[in-house]
Parts: sequence; C-alpha cells; structure tokens
Amino acid sequence: MLDLLLTGARLAGSGEVRDLGVRDGVLVSPEPEAREVIALGGALVTPPLVEPHIHLDAVLTEGQPRPNLSGSLFEGIAIWGERVKSLTIEDVKARVRQVLRWQLANGVQHVRSHVDVCDPHLRALRALVQLREEIGDQIGLQLVAFPQQGVLSFPGGQELMRRAVALGADVIGGIPHFELTREMGVDSVKFAFALAAEHGLRVDIHCDETDDDHSRFVEVMAAETLRLGLEGRVTASHTTAMHSYNNAYAYRVINNVARARMHMVTNPLDNSVLQGRFDSYPVRRGHTRIKELMAAGVNVCIGHDSVMDPWYPLGYGDPLQAAFVLAHYGHMSGAEELKRLLEMITVNPARALGLPDYGLETGGPASLVVYDAPGEVDAVRLIPRRRLVLRRGRVVARTEPARTTVIWDGREEPVDFLPVHGSPASGG
Ligand SMILES: [Zn+2]
Repeated sequence: MLDLLLTGARLAGSGEVRDLGVRDGVLVSPEPEAREVIALGGALVTPPLVEPHIHLDAVLTEGQPRPNLSGSLFEGIAIWGERVKSLTIEDVKARVRQVLRWQLANGVQHVRSHVDVCDPHLRALRALVQLREEIGDQIGLQLVAFPQQGVLSFPGGQELMRRAVALGADVIGGIPHFELTREMGVDSVKFAFALAAEHGLRVDIHCDETDDDHSRFVEVMAAETLRLGLEGRVTASHTTAMHSYNNAYAYRVINNVARARMHMVTNPLDNSVLQGRFDSYPVRRGHTRIKELMAAGVNVCIGHDSVMDPWYPLGYGDPLQAAFVLAHYGHMSGAEELKRLLEMITVNPARALGLPDYGLETGGPASLVVYDAPGEVDAVRLIPRRRLVLRRGRVVARTEPARTTVIWDGREEPVDFLPVHGSPASGG
C-alpha cells in the first residue's frame, strides 16, 4: 500500500507523463493501492526549486527608514547602512520567517542566503543561525558570511569573518570590487579562499558586480580555485563586469572559469535595474555572459537576490519571475533556451549548493513541485502558482489555482491561456 499516488505527472526534461508512487517519504514505483490519490492531469512536475542567492537579512525592509527614490545601488547601500543600526535578532527572524514561507509556497526547498557580517555584534548572522536551527528540516538553509562593506576595507573585517565561521556560517563570501584598491580586492579573494580551505567550506563571492570593465576578480577566483584544489566548490555571483569586457579577455576568463569548474549565479531582477546607471544612451544591460558561459560548459544558475529591500522593491521570492526576466534580458527566447531556464532554478543550483539526493529518481526523496501548467515553456510564460509542493512525501504547500471564464457570444466559457486545452506550448 502506497502512502500517496500522483497520477498523470508530466516530468520536466523528458515531457513523459506517468504516475508517481510515494511510500515512507521516498519515490517508488506506482501501485494501484494507495491511501491517497491526487490526479495531476498532465501538470508539469519538477524537483524542488533551489534558491542559490538571496539576502534574507535585508528582505522586507523596503522604505525603512526611507524609500530609495533614485532606485540606484548606491542610494540602496546608504539606506541599508542606516537600517542596519536598528537591526535586532527578532526583527531579522520575523522578516525571514515570512519570506521563507513565501519561498516554500513557490516550491523552493533549498536556500543559500548571504548574510551581512559587517556588524561588530553579528546580529543578522546570529538571527539566521538560530532560525536555521528552529526551522529544522522544513527548508534547507545555507548561510554565506558576506562582508557587505568589504573584508579589508571595514574595521576588523577579517576577524568578523573568522567569528562568522565559528558561529556557524556554511560558506565564505566576499566583495572584492568594493574593496578600496585593486590590490585589497585580490587580497580579499585570497583571504576568503584560505579561510574556506582551512575549514573545509565552500566559497561564494559577490564578484565584479559593477559596469567597470577593469573589475577583474573572477580571474583571481579561478586561479585560487585551481591552486587550492577547490574545483566544484566555488561560486561567483553577479559577475556583471563580464558584460563590458572586451571579447578576447572574456574568452580567456570564461575558459579559466570552466577549467576551475566554478559555478556562476546571475541575478536578473536586481541587476536589470541596478546596472547601467552611469551610462548615457545606449544603456548597457549589465548581465554576465550567460550563453557564452553555458557554451563553455559552465554551470550557470539564476538567483533572486532581493525581496522588497533597499535595492529591489518588488518580488515575492519566486525563482520563475527571475527566469522570466532573464528570458528577455539574456536573449534566451530560443525554444531550447526557454527550457534551460527551468534547469537554472532547479538542477543547476542544486549542483552549485552540493545538494545530495536531488532529483526525481525512484528510491530518492519524494520532494517535488507541481505547477498549474503542463510544460516548461508554459511555466516560464505564465509564472503559474504551484498547485502542490511535496517534501519527503508530505504536502508542505498547496494552492487552489484561480479558474477564469469569459462571457463570449452570451456564453460563459473557460479560459486556461493554453494554445490547445490541457496541452503544453511547443517544446514544453
Ligand atoms: Zn547579492
């Protein structure tokens, strides 16, 4: 007897429609006898969504203590500097709990959060470490020690990073392009890698998040990864300066990133509004070179970055929104490219985070997401609600999708926004 039988699941990737059995939290072959049966009717099913880059400590602070009127990165940093002074452990926890619920409702079951450690009291990190304990296995949480004001340019920055590791940070961060000089930026990358190697931790650095084509710290990351044998354990986030590099230099650095088996995270929501702010027309997009990185075999992931904070006032923690924006800003509207967008919020970040037991294999954990849409292209196009989110065989989120009708020629008819009722868009 199964605990649960899901009928008519359309699997992402193959597009195959089949039944899925669940017993003791594990995916098993379907059997006729089950305690509960849920008919999916050809709905798209993927493994859990994975959020590889968010700043949970800053979520839901938009407008506090004042709104960002220009919408720029720099006004955002100034406002955050004011807001940090009033941080308390309970304030951070209350906001993060709220957004983690939103993420779970969206199907996100693994989150990597950068946490600002440029605070002598490390209040945000203490709050997140406590919360990671309190939420248990409801959602996976990795914490990055992130020095928002720099490691070498902030008083006591190195010591704060070491204290963050002692407190329980899982990943070492950095922000080399924000250090006072090029040399300090290089040293900050070497410091982060040495600290990670010493403690057996992974690395995830905010790297070259600027339109300055002279910001070239990704090359230092690749060199340190190779020197210390950290291949597969290092992520470079944002890397927007790559957009502005000359093609010969970009070619060289992309090959070195591939050689070092680094993971890349692009953050289309924030970077589409924050980059290009110093340009007169034409205004650059300021995204990293996604297609070229992928063509070189690099694992590229999509991050959400901000949810209603001083840098980005919108969002509700749904990776599909970020994928939708990247379809446009990354010129990823080709049929095969649209399907890859879904991999960039599921299997790709699962690799970057080093998640074990990830996927929809028989014998693996029954953790999955059911969409109110039949295919991958429809998921990107419609950003539909998640009908069902399963974690280790238990339903942890459920949405009753809205049903729409129109009155046409005097008759009420259903509208589902699909080209042919119930079937996926081409390529889906
Ligand atoms: Zn970020």
